[in-house]
Amino acid sequence: MRAFSYVRVEGVQETLAALRQPGVKLLAGGTNLLDLMKGDIEQPAVLVDITRLPLRDIAELPDGGVRIGALARNSDTANHPLIRQRYPLLTQALVAGASPQLRNMATVGGNLLQRTRCHYFVDAAYAACNKRKPGSGCAARDGFTRQHAIFGASPQCIATHPSDMAVALAALDATVQVQGPRGGRRIALRDFHRLPGENPERDTTLAGDELIVAVDLPASRFAEHSHYLKVRDRASYAFALVSVAAALDVRDSTLSDARLALGGVAHKPWRAEAAERRLIGSRLDAAAIDEAARLSVDGAQPLRGNAFKVALAQRAVARALQTAAGTA
Ligand code: SF4
Repeated sequence: MRAFSYVRVEGVQETLAALRQPGVKLLAGGTNLLDLMKGDIEQPAVLVDITRLPLRDIAELPDGGVRIGALARNSDTANHPLIRQRYPLLTQALVAGASPQLRNMATVGGNLLQRTRCHYFVDAAYAACNKRKPGSGCAARDGFTRQHAIFGASPQCIATHPSDMAVALAALDATVQVQGPRGGRRIALRDFHRLPGENPERDTTLAGDELIVAVDLPASRFAEHSHYLKVRDRASYAFALVSVAAALDVRDSTLSDARLALGGVAHKPWRAEAAERRLIGSRLDAAAIDEAARLSVDGAQPLRGNAFKVALAQRAVARALQTAAGTA
């Protein structure tokens, strides 16, 4: 770990001022950043501790939605009555992530900004990583690709985003509230994370001088019929090979709305929009589930080491839909 300066801030404007310095990283739960600093992957000149900012509240919005402060702990969010009652999908996704100890430290904002767990990114011994050092190449391309993307990858990067929480938030059409020197703005969760393209070093559309202050959930019609399914190499404390957030709005036995988001398959939570379109207006019978599952992997481009993910994702979508509908 390299030497760095440490400062603690108390307010949003003070944080925005601190972000004007070069080499700044914000410290919230630290569950990802500190690991990366110990491995020399992140080398901030200044670590700005934002844990005292008043951004922990979870509260109802006038339109029936819920606002989650950026510094709400993952465990507090998962267990909050408003989230458990209205967004059980989010509770399930949060509980599927990490360990209880990590969830007690990790924050909602930090979870969105966590970096890929690509083996070649987190190990500085590998020189070729375009995400760590633009233009250096991609060691994963000819390496071990079991965990890597089957959608939306680029020649420059094939990494996946590791968050479970973000997959549920994508299915729920959450928005990220940010503050910056130009004022506040809202970013749809599905536009918050980027595909790697030519610039895999950029994970999100958040500008370097902006701060996440909250995540807003719209009023939900999915509490009765939703499910988060995570498939991983061991029963707990592992990142998803494939995960599925399924949310259904069932009216008179017909789906008036359907959301499907996949995790572990792309550089961002991956909405299966063709499958959603197939489901909306249908009865959720076996034929609809089979076709939606097939459509959810349409266009997949697996690598040599992760072709199994296509069939796995298809089956996981079918199982998540059955469970959400109560027919599994
Ligand atoms: Fe780096 Fe992305 Fe290649 Fe992994 S997949 S080595 S993160 S460029």
